[in-house]
Amino acid sequence: MRHVLAMVVIFSGRVCTLAGDRPVTVIVDFDSAHPVAVTRAMQQETSRLLAALGYSPDWRPRASITESESFDRVAMVHFHGTCSSLEIAGSRVPARMPVGSTAVQNGDVLPFAEIDCSTIGAYISREIVRRDPATRQQIYGRALGRVVAHELEHILSNTKVHESAGIFRESFSASDLAGAATFESVR
Ligand SMILES: [Zn+2]
Repeated sequence: MRHVLAMVVIFSGRVCTLAGDRPVTVIVDFDSAHPVAVTRAMQQETSRLLAALGYSPDWRPRASITESESFDRVAMVHFHGTCSSLEIAGSRVPARMPVGSTAVQNGDVLPFAEIDCSTIGAYISREIVRRDPATRQQIYGRALGRVVAHELEHILSNTKVHESAGIFRESFSASDLAGAATFESVR
């Protein structure tokens, strides 16, 4: 098994208002504490970006899933590290490192994504360190949501190939992750 990696990047914005009408269950699992404000901002941003692809995520904590449930379209997203912006201020900015990945096996993208909360936090720490706590959580959650949307696009489109613009570019800059610009899926 190998992984498609989302590296750090530059986007150009494009406005799209399509509503998502294809449901997809997104099962989320966290290594550590994840404030409601962060997860809410993450889900809002991911849902907004996936709506441009026609998808409407139904967010489910992994612990809420029962054995009897089945899903027509499902993806699992595991969040590693510290997923609270209140604990990342002053983090060292890492060298070019993956912020997310999606499992690939025998050429197919599997419905399993990994998100590195700590690395994303370190990348954008300079962008948010002087903001008030509520704003930091909002911006950080939105940055997580952009990476999640990127990885889910790999899964939902079953492709390892990136686009030349938008949220599905190969890499992101810190300001792209933390900035106020809106990014779109380009398909
Ligand atoms: Zn990618």
